[in-house]
Formats: sequence, structure tokens, C-alpha cells
Amino acid sequence: MTKPVAGSSGKAAPGVGAEEPGARESGAQERSPAAPATAAIPGRKLRQLAELPVTVLKNIGTASGKELAELGIETVLDLLTHYPRRYIDGTRLAPLSELAGGDTASVLATVRRVNRPPSGRYRRGPSRVELDITDGTGGSKVVFFNQTWRAKQLPVGTLALFFGKLGTYRDSRQMVNPTVEVVRAAGGVDDDADEPGDGSGTDDVGASGRIYPVYPLSEKADLTSIRITRFLAEALKRAGDFAEPLQAHWRSRFKLIDRTQAFHDIHQPATMAEREPARRRLAFDELFRLQLALVLRQRRLESDARGIRHVLDGPVKGEPSLLDQFMTGLPFEPTNAQRAAVEAIADDLAGPLPMHRLLQGDVGAGKTVVAVAALLVAVQGGHQGALMAPTEVLAEQHFFGVRSLLDGLSVPDPTTLEGVRPLRVALLTSKTPAAERTRLHQGLRDGGVDLLIGTHALLTDDVRFHSLGAVVIDEQHRFGVEQRAALKAKGRGDDGRGADPDLLVMTATPIPRTAAMVVFGDLDMTTIDELPPGRTPITTEWARTAMDEAGAWERVRTEVVAGHRAFVVCPLVDGSERVEATSATEEFVRLQAEELKGLRLGLLHGQMRPSEKESVMADFRAGALDVLVATTVIEVGVDVPEATVMVIEDADRFGIAQLHQLRGRVGRGSDPSWCYLLSESQAPEAEARLGAMERTTDGFELADVDLELRGEGTILGARQKGRSDLKLASLLRDRDLVLQAREAAVSIVADDPQLGDNQLLEEELRLFIDDDEAEFLFKS
Ligand code: ADP
Ligand code: MG
Repeated sequence: MTKPVAGSSGKAAPGVGAEEPGARESGAQERSPAAPATAAIPGRKLRQLAELPVTVLKNIGTASGKELAELGIETVLDLLTHYPRRYIDGTRLAPLSELAGGDTASVLATVRRVNRPPSGRYRRGPSRVELDITDGTGGSKVVFFNQTWRAKQLPVGTLALFFGKLGTYRDSRQMVNPTVEVVRAAGGVDDDADEPGDGSGTDDVGASGRIYPVYPLSEKADLTSIRITRFLAEALKRAGDFAEPLQAHWRSRFKLIDRTQAFHDIHQPATMAEREPARRRLAFDELFRLQLALVLRQRRLESDARGIRHVLDGPVKGEPSLLDQFMTGLPFEPTNAQRAAVEAIADDLAGPLPMHRLLQGDVGAGKTVVAVAALLVAVQGGHQGALMAPTEVLAEQHFFGVRSLLDGLSVPDPTTLEGVRPLRVALLTSKTPAAERTRLHQGLRDGGVDLLIGTHALLTDDVRFHSLGAVVIDEQHRFGVEQRAALKAKGRGDDGRGADPDLLVMTATPIPRTAAMVVFGDLDMTTIDELPPGRTPITTEWARTAMDEAGAWERVRTEVVAGHRAFVVCPLVDGSERVEATSATEEFVRLQAEELKGLRLGLLHGQMRPSEKESVMADFRAGALDVLVATTVIEVGVDVPEATVMVIEDADRFGIAQLHQLRGRVGRGSDPSWCYLLSESQAPEAEARLGAMERTTDGFELADVDLELRGEGTILGARQKGRSDLKLASLLRDRDLVLQAREAAVSIVADDPQLGDNQLLEEELRLFIDDDEAEFLFKS
């Protein structure tokens, strides 16, 4: 598509918008003279529709405008993107005459009579609203108990869908407390009345061939789906043809229908089969805008970057690099997945652009080794590395683990006799004593410290580096975007003259690949999809009864006798960390006196002093304690291979990701392990979550279940801002669309990095992202 638009410099193109006010005020695009500027991009742009208040539509008055505003609908674009929640197939409803008592069915019928309940002080028993309904083939009674408002909702003449079980009462059919969907309000309603209509709105009840869209409505507004349908009919008429931002070859490649048809078919499908192609097209647009923004962002970061080309050779000529020494000196054989990840990362580090990579891998996959490898590449070229972890327990564990893995490695140091000195790893947390902290700060500034491991304490201002070359963030979901950026910014230094360190973020809460593409679409991604060999699977049991629970405690005892260790995770308690600590303490005391009497128990919670926590952890690691009773402070990273049992109390209170993380604390050695989920809950949600935990230990599979249960909102979380919400796209259902949107976005941005030749896309993107983001993406 070429576009001979004047002044197409990739800016916001005020010239293109210039014809707008005229078209808007006159309110009928077919009357406005064909402006030459739009000739190349015919059709309505979303931006134009976003500038039209709904009240310009001739069947929407002030009152209806207010009601729509309750639903967050202010512009014509808002209205057009208020998509149906579902559809009622008017061709497949059960005729009342053919239904028998006991059938459960959907019936589309008109209210013929309403018996208002007697009200006032003499009323006794439950309130009762009774309707007579008919669908032209037959009739039925409908009775509502304790829903007096139904009388107001369903006055005579209302057309509604009634879903429920048909019973018989005194020889006549009746439905009790059915689900109701009002399809058309009774009589002519306010400003709808002057709408000429196409006749379909007044079809006889039960008329065939009609699909009724059902829209999300609000409790407050007095709107019905049928009124929204009428507003939309007007909006669609008024919009006319939509501008098409997607070039034809992409559409045919991905089998997407054009936008005009998509907007019509989603709101006014002639058949049920027309809905899905429409939804797919509009869902694609949502995902495509998101991918465009992410890909542009990635580009932008790259073009602003001042990266370091890290060297892959060793610091000492003729000797293997630190990376090679490290990899060959590991106490185990790295898995192929670990090797591949290290290779990909080393390539990134050697390149001119700073790395932005996400390392995904299931719990226990061995990400730490890969992280250390990345940091070593920086160190062997004379730079420093930093590893940030979300908790003290984890930071300490990393410190001790990494230090022992790096034991024996040296870096060049001309000030020493041998010309080398041992590689120095340091730990910094909020509890590092002041004197040591001062020494540490000095070491970081003069380069005497090679690797810094720690918590949020790394972010404080007086942490300054000589030359920060690589940053790893473990359990990245525990940190905010700004915190990641703050650590990275330390590479540039106070004077801004340094470089941008390479960044590796790690996550142990896997999310499905396509979801990751949406959430982390501005990062490269590596997945460790293989566990180290020799892990024996964890047997997970959902203990629902007292007997099951007794079995769990029995397992703890037998494992301890066999020389192993156990975790007990205390219930999540709402309220403060202090309340939770108290409850954990009580549980600790109770278990010591009852189920686990005679075993050596330790307690760990967030309110303990750091030194206490440390000594409990150390005792547990060393085997001086058999059982660790803990809150979720042990959720991330804790690595004690001798632990073979975990008991999680009130397991239904935890989410899937959290349960999976917790369970990952066992099964780290070569002995078989068990995880017991204590819960008597019978809620369907609990059933789904705990059932999935019993069924599989595969984090990616669980991530899918989680996505299904919780929807995308939680995954997208804070990454989603502005109006870029996914209204139609589903990360679970539309994986193919995510991949296609990504492919198109990458290809388009590669050819046209500023979208100068794709102005319609740029304009649309600006509409859906916030101003700061737009400023960043399109600044030249
Ligand atoms: P996670 O990916 O959950 O962070 P870790 O890096 O903590 O996993 O590794 C889990 C455990 O597996 C550690 O005890 C680690 O030493 C061990 N490990 C890592 N890689 C291997 C391997 N290739 N073979 C055997 N054990 C390994
Ligand atoms: Mg880890």
C-alpha cells in the first residue's frame, strides 16, 4: 500500500485530521465532499470515531447518553467496541408448545400478564412475582420468589429470554426463578421511539432467523441489550466503511476478514457462524496493536542504548575463559537446555546491543547456573555483575551457593605479585552491618568486588559501580518495572557516562509462551524446558479428610526417621504480616505438642529478626532441625535437597502459581518426595486448582490451567495500561493470533521503524496507548 499523503513524515499528521471537524459536525460522512487527503486511506478511522460523542447519533439523547456513560461508553468508538457478551440464537429456541414438564430450556417469550406481589405489612412468607408468558406457540407461568424487582424489570410487553427448568403446577406449565435476559423492553422506550427501525425489532415473538446479541449491562443504567443493539445499528450506519490499517496481504495470509465486515458481523451477525470470523479479526487488531507497541519499544530501547561488547575470551592469554572454567568445573553435567541458554546469552553479551532477555524455566530447572554464567562473561572482561533477589533468604542462599560454585576462579590484578587475585563475591542486604557496608561500597566503586548479590538494598543510592556490565534479576515478578530499571541505570553511573549493562530477568512462575509474548513482548526469551536428570517425581496428594491428613503427618515422621526433612506451610492469613506470624507461631506450638511431637521443629516467618531467620535456615540445612514450619517466606528459591516432604495447610487459599512454587522446595534431591495439600474445600475453584496440582508437576501445564481459571487480567496486570485492554482476544484461545500479530508487527517495524509509511497504524496506536508511551515510541 503506497500512500501519497502530504507531509507523511511519521509525525502525528495533523494535516490528515484537518478534514475532520467538518465531517464531524455535519454528522454524515456521505455528505462531506471527498477530501483528497483521505483518498489513499478511504473509510472511517478509529480516531475519528473516538472523537465523536455518542450523543451525535440520532437515536441517542442526553438521557441515553448518561446511561451509556455508566457503562464507560462515551464515544462512538466506545460504543462500537462494546462487544456482545454472548448471542441468543433466535433460530434454535425451544417453542413452548413442544416442551414438557421436566425439560430445561431457553424460551424466548413476551410477558402477557404480571401479578405484582401484595406488599406492605400484611404480607407473609416469601415475596412472589408471577408472570404469564407466551411465545406464540404456547404459554407458561413464571414465578420468582424474593425478587420483587422482577415486576419492574418485566412489565407486560417485555420480550425476554427465560432459561430454566419447566415444571408443572396444578396442570399448568411453570418456571421457577429462571435466568432472565431482557431482549426488548416493553413498548416504545424514550428516545428509541423515533427510530424508524428495520422492522426486525418488532418481529413477532419466536420469529426465526434472528440472532440477538446480549451486551454487558450495568445494574445502575436502565439499558437493555435491544436498546444497545439499536444504538449500534445507528453507529454502524453512521460509521460507514472503516479504514483498513492492515495491508491486504496480511489479511489474506492470516485469513482475516476486513474491518468493516468485522464490526458489522460482531454486532449484527446474520447467522451464528458469522460471529467467529468477526471476533477473530477484531481480536487480532487488539493483539496487533499491543505487539506493535512492544516491538517499537524494543527498537527504541535499542536505538537509545549504549551497550558493551563483552569478550568471550579469558582474561589471561592462553587460559580458558572464566565461563569455560566455570562450566567445566560444575559439580554436575549441565543439561542441554542449560547449555543452549548459556550460549544464547553469551551471544547476546558479545553483541553491541545490551541484552534484554527473559529466562523462563520451571522450578528446579537450574536457572542459577545460567545466571552465574552470564555474570561471569561480564567479569572476565573486567566489568562487574549484580544479582538481585526478592528476599533475604534467597539472596543469602544465592550468595553461599554462587560463592562455592566460583571457588578457585581468579581475575587479573596487576597490583598483586601473581598478577591475579581471587574473584570476589559480596552480599548486600538491609542487614549488612554499617562498617562492612562502607567497605563494600568502596569495593564496588574501585572494582575490587566482582559480583554483588543482594536484595532491594542494591538499589540504594550509595551503591555505585566501577563498571557494571551485567545484571540478573531473579524472580522478576517480585520486582516492579522501575526497580529493574533502577538497577540497570547504575551502569550509566551518576555522570551518565557509563554504559547500559546487559539484563537477564528470570522467572520461575512459567507463563505460557504466547502469554509471555504479550506480557514480555519487548524482551527476548529463552526457556529451559528440561529438568536436570535424576530427579524423582513428586507425588502430590490432596488430603481432604482427617484420615488423609493423618497420613500426611505419618509421612513426615517416616521421612524424618529415614534421615530426610520436611516443610510445613502455614495457612495464608489475611491481614498483616504480624497476624500471619502469630498464626504460624501458634501452629508451630500446636504441631510440636500434637501431630509432630518428638520431632525437632523450627519456625520461620517474616516478622523474625534476620539473624534468627538465618540461624533457623542454617539449622534446617544442616539437619539440626527436622521440620521447618514456615509461612510463604520459603516460597521462592529455597534449596534444601534433603527435604522430601511438604505439607501445605489450607491449600485452597493459595493460587496455582504459589502452590507450584512452594512444592518446588521438595523434589530437589534424588529421593522420592511428597507434597500434601490439606483442604476440605469443595468449591469448584479449589477442586480445579488442587486437582491440577495432583495431576501434574509441569509448571507450563499448570500455567495454562491458571490462565483458564483466572483469565488474562491477572497475567497482564500492570503491563497493560491505557486503552489497550484485550476485550475480545483471549490469550488461551487465540494463541495463533498472538503469533500472527507478533509476526506482522516484527515485519512491519523492520521495514518501517517509525511507521512513516503506515500512518494509519501509528495513529491508531496512539489512540490506544497513553501519551508518555507514545512520546517514547515515536520521538525522533
Ligand atoms: P531454579 O531454576 O528453580 O532456580 P536452581 O538453579 O536453584 O533452580 O537449581 C535447583 C537445584 O538443581 C540446585 O540444587 C542446583 O545445584 C541443581 N542443578 C542445577 N543444574 C543441575 C544439573 N544440570 N544437574 C544436576 N543438578 C543441577
Ligand atoms: Mg531460582
